[in-house]
Amino acid sequence: ARQPGTSGPRTVRAPRGTQLSCKGWQQEAAMRMLMNNLDPEVAERPDELVVYGGSGRAARSWEAFDAIVRALKELEDDETLLVQSGKPVGIFRTQRDAPRVLIANANLVPHWATWDEFRRLEALGLTMYGQMTAGSWIYIGSQGIVQGTYETFAEAARQHFGGTLRGKFVLTAGLGGMGGAQPLAITMNEGICLAVEVDPQRIQRRLQTGYCDEMASTLDEALAQIREARDNGQPLSIGLIGNAAEVYSELVRRNLIPDLVTDQTAAHDLLNGYIPAGLSLEEANDLRRRDPQEYIERARQSLVSQVRAMLEMQRRGAIVFDYGNNLRGQALAAGEPHAMDFPGFVSAFIRPLFCRGKGPFRWVALSGDPEDIYRTDETILELFPEDQALRRWITLAREKIHFQGLPARICWLGYGERAKAGLAFNELVARGLVKAPIVIGRDHLDSGSVASPYRETEGMKDGSDAIADWPILNALLNTASGATWVSFHHGGGVGIGYSLHAGQVIVADGTPEAVRRLERVLTNDPGIGVVRHVDAGYEEALTCARQWGLKLPMSPP
Ligand code: NAD
Repeated sequence: ARQPGTSGPRTVRAPRGTQLSCKGWQQEAAMRMLMNNLDPEVAERPDELVVYGGSGRAARSWEAFDAIVRALKELEDDETLLVQSGKPVGIFRTQRDAPRVLIANANLVPHWATWDEFRRLEALGLTMYGQMTAGSWIYIGSQGIVQGTYETFAEAARQHFGGTLRGKFVLTAGLGGMGGAQPLAITMNEGICLAVEVDPQRIQRRLQTGYCDEMASTLDEALAQIREARDNGQPLSIGLIGNAAEVYSELVRRNLIPDLVTDQTAAHDLLNGYIPAGLSLEEANDLRRRDPQEYIERARQSLVSQVRAMLEMQRRGAIVFDYGNNLRGQALAAGEPHAMDFPGFVSAFIRPLFCRGKGPFRWVALSGDPEDIYRTDETILELFPEDQALRRWITLAREKIHFQGLPARICWLGYGERAKAGLAFNELVARGLVKAPIVIGRDHLDSGSVASPYRETEGMKDGSDAIADWPILNALLNTASGATWVSFHHGGGVGIGYSLHAGQVIVADGTPEAVRRLERVLTNDPGIGVVRHVDAGYEEALTCARQWGLKLPMSPP
């Protein structure tokens, strides 16, 4: 607990209800969302101001946190607060339609953009790692991971299986922090999931939290359940205790080829993230300590045999993809020349969405009342009645996802749809159908807001993977359009040196000014995503741009 008059760790929770502690709802929204990021229900290590993703922080220090809150409480409706890597550094007179807060986190001049230099500067108290939504005050807990995974499988279903995974056998592995979202995301898409996981405790944890339905200890037992679910068209998820390298190869040997295949073991780290075949967990732990070189060599051989099984499944008709864990890169480095024959998840399933400006639209009820989110859920269903995957997501999210901190929701919406939703939410506030304003934001992982050559911009059609003008233009455009706060960060997702990205958050407070700002921001923000993909040569983006009449000075007629 905090001593009076000092600044240190304490329990933070955003105020609820309609009473303002700031001079307007825009400032109040920024303050509540900063506090919400540090709510113990939301943040991983709130005492250290760490929200998620390694060391992604909301503010640089507790002194800086207190100073930001003080500044927001005093901030006028025509002023803008500047935050430099988690520390408030100045307040300027701007104008009512300008952002109330501008944030820059962890940015370094490219030649110095290394972890070593960053850590040196961080130790001097000069910078802070903001991840994507930690330092930009719009993290909403694990709902975001489940939804991104759901959307990936939904797009796979749309592309290959007529819009649903019903009756489809989906094979994956790894039920860790991120991978654990897979069984739920697959059954939410009505599919049958077999997730191979070497550690029974990880499976147990997913059973307890309702992310996975069943646990099996033999492949035969799991296959019998899969057959039954398939015959009945029932969604089902099974965590199978086993090693992915062995189970994938055994399925090929028996010629049992799943419909869709991926993997989310932590294959990017061979020593700590991938268990070699033929070893129990204890034996693996022992070998890792005793002989790390031998461990890595055995992990590498197992990984290659798993990738070979996946390539064989692909040859026999399965849809196979890499889920962002560098599985292909590891196999390629170990000498499997065909490792890159199956695609990564962004280029296979997410990029077509990005071409239409579609990305992770999220919103939060400042009232703190879950009923307000349920009311917005209904609005979304009314606005987009034709979108089946969206309907499934919203309906199941209501049933299965627990709120963390202020009640929030996420769903992927495209160009045109985001502005429509934002304006409808503003109308709900204006008519008193929700109890307080709604905050609308998004992840930095989005259509036109990130340059990250190992993830979001991997394998761009024109080779522009490392071009980082786009996220900068995105931040400038959102500022010019009147977002409530705008952020520009370095290093989110893949680490220092590997990515640059921008975020925006806008408040629907029910006023006519908010109508104009929402329309501009929620049109232009996904709009630059469409433009970025038109520029890279994606036909689907050009179709979308033409359909909506986007002005493109140099696009083909
Ligand atoms: P984690 O370390 O929490 O979990 C990995 C799991 O894999 C563990 O439960 C481990 O027991 C299991 N495992 C390891 N070797 C195995 C084997 N041979 N057979 C079966 N199970 C095995 O990791 P995480 O947070 O779940 O992330 C998984 C990977 O996904 C990481 O490489 C991460 O970088 C990557 N990733 C995911 C996304 C996404 O959107 N989901 C995006 C980018 C990267």
